Amino acid sequence: MGERKNNKRKGFKFPFGGPPLPNPKPFGGWKFSIMYILILVVGMSLFNYVFMNRVNPTVDFSDFKAKIASGEIKRVELTDSYFTGYTSLKQELPPGPRIRNPYAASSEPVYRTVPINDPELIKLMDEKQVAYYAVSREGSAILNIVFSWVLPIAFFFFIWRFLMKRLGNMGGNVLSVGQNRAVIVAEGDIVTRFSDVAGVDEAKEELIEVVDFLKNPKKYTDIGGKIPKGVLLVGPPGTGKTLLARAVAGEAGVAFFRMSGADFVEMFVGVGAARVRDLFKQARDKAPCIVFIDELDAIGKSRLNNIAGGNDEREQTLNQLLVEMDGFDGTSGLIILAATNRPDVLDPALLRPGRFDRQVLVDRPDLKGREAILRIHSKAVKLSPQVDLDAIARLTSGFVGADLANIVNEAALLAVRGNRNLVIQKDFEEAIEKTVAGLQKKNRIISEDERRIVAFHETGHALIAAFTPGSDPVQKISIVPRGFGALGYTLQMPVEDRYLMTEGELLGKIDVLLGGRAAEELIFGKISTGAANDLTKATDIARRMITDYGMSSRFRNVALTQRGAGMLGGSQAQEPLLHREYSEATQQYIDEEIAHIVEKQYTWVKAQLAEHQVLLNTVAGLLLEKESLDEKEFKDIIAQGDHGL
Ligand code: ADP
Ligand code: ZN
Ligand code: MG
Repeated sequence: MGERKNNKRKGFKFPFGGPPLPNPKPFGGWKFSIMYILILVVGMSLFNYVFMNRVNPTVDFSDFKAKIASGEIKRVELTDSYFTGYTSLKQELPPGPRIRNPYAASSEPVYRTVPINDPELIKLMDEKQVAYYAVSREGSAILNIVFSWVLPIAFFFFIWRFLMKRLGNMGGNVLSVGQNRAVIVAEGDIVTRFSDVAGVDEAKEELIEVVDFLKNPKKYTDIGGKIPKGVLLVGPPGTGKTLLARAVAGEAGVAFFRMSGADFVEMFVGVGAARVRDLFKQARDKAPCIVFIDELDAIGKSRLNNIAGGNDEREQTLNQLLVEMDGFDGTSGLIILAATNRPDVLDPALLRPGRFDRQVLVDRPDLKGREAILRIHSKAVKLSPQVDLDAIARLTSGFVGADLANIVNEAALLAVRGNRNLVIQKDFEEAIEKTVAGLQKKNRIISEDERRIVAFHETGHALIAAFTPGSDPVQKISIVPRGFGALGYTLQMPVEDRYLMTEGELLGKIDVLLGGRAAEELIFGKISTGAANDLTKATDIARRMITDYGMSSRFRNVALTQRGAGMLGGSQAQEPLLHREYSEATQQYIDEEIAHIVEKQYTWVKAQLAEHQVLLNTVAGLLLEKESLDEKEFKDIIAQGDHGL
């Protein structure tokens, strides 16, 4: 089936379930801290106002002189800005520069005046035996420095510290950012087992092997085999990737280090890399063990597609990870598991042999899988005997494990609210309704009509594959909506690697691709957008047959295009440049010939399906009921033929 857009589901949060995060990040203190800053600012202004601007009322210069003459003022302090007269001699001040304390409140009356350059004043003071002295500017200069430089700098330092704390890791000391925060869970701590995970049987099977690697490494190394270093769990959020990783550690009885990709990405360049180094150092000490990197895409994003010039920090972290992965050999008993729901954005270097060369698909569960998951999660819940988990599983097509765990919990809450001591079917139905509303917004629930179309579409592909000689056998048909856009899929497994394909086989491929749309048209009398992707592929094959492989009638054995050298190791997206070396008229012929080939094959495909319509109905019906058919189930039906049922 074709692509469905707007389907990115990043950051879907589950209100229930999931292991507790090792590092809860308190993020509530914002307002509180802003209050601190405000208080500081107000405090400083007050401080300034009270002490810096504490001006004694000044008196006129003539009054000042008069007070000296009258003998009231006994001591005078001369500065550039004021002459200050004191009425006592008490405070004998040492000569020379010193820091004056202008804030020491004096009980005696003090007079102050703005200085005037008056030589008479000195004479007067000499005459009256007034002690007078000048105060060097240095004293107040130091104070000035304190106020205009030291305090503001201190102030900004505190703001900086505060922001660092915020942006850094909420509460962590700025100096300790490099330290590892992986939670080391000791052997006995992991109680998760494979029996706690359901509905992802293929993934489980592959991981059982990983457990065996960890338990009996000698079995593999004795024979000269290499134990895989990295296994990448790929699947939509909530399908149980984290759970599976824990189960592997639990089953193998080894230590489990879990870190999220986001934990590595710090604002300081180099910290992430240091953390990776730390993590692996600890892991090597504890081997055999499992290092689990959740949300690998946070650090493993492709470096190629960095339009904005790249994120140095992430790149360094990624490079360090690659270095570490290359740095240990398969005998050390260290296995790295990673999880991602965006395998498409990962850097190709991560997927190279010796790194995450094993990929395990953790897909959405089908009907049977959902029932098993519901069973696991309702073990701890008191169910009324009339609860039919199979019926609940039928109502929850497209739900992932986390959704189902949520539904069980929600149903239990509803039972409590209803003052019941057993959970009844109605509670489940209500819980599903609640969840469906949320999921519909996220495009994860498809309507019954759509499901029917998808079922017939996929059956069309599968039947044509079965009828076409030399076609790859159908391994699985599914109408479980997939994470990455497809509404359903038919999986064909090549029997052998092919380097050559005959004209007949290419046409057969086109047939299989057209089978989906043909079935839709045959059954519903109308066609849908679901075949877009199929048509693109079919058209591409037809075009290549004409332009590249010389398989058209007019240009038999003539190559019409010339491909420039492709980029070495480039992905399929980086197709080599095409040089068109033919005329406009030929182009028109090619276009017409493509349409002609597709039309011819489509007619044949539709006729085939019409002939086997009973089979089409049977398979689609079964698919609608069970959501997925495996190779054997499908073969059995085909073997029974049109009259089997
Ligand atoms: P992911 O890591 O794929 O996003 P999690 O492993 O964190 O998903 O799943 C969250 C929770 O949902 C799990 O702790 C578990 O309770 C439940 N869950 C998810 N998938 C399954 C499953 N296949 N079988 C049983 N429980 C599941
Ligand atoms: Zn299709
Ligand atoms: Mg997870």
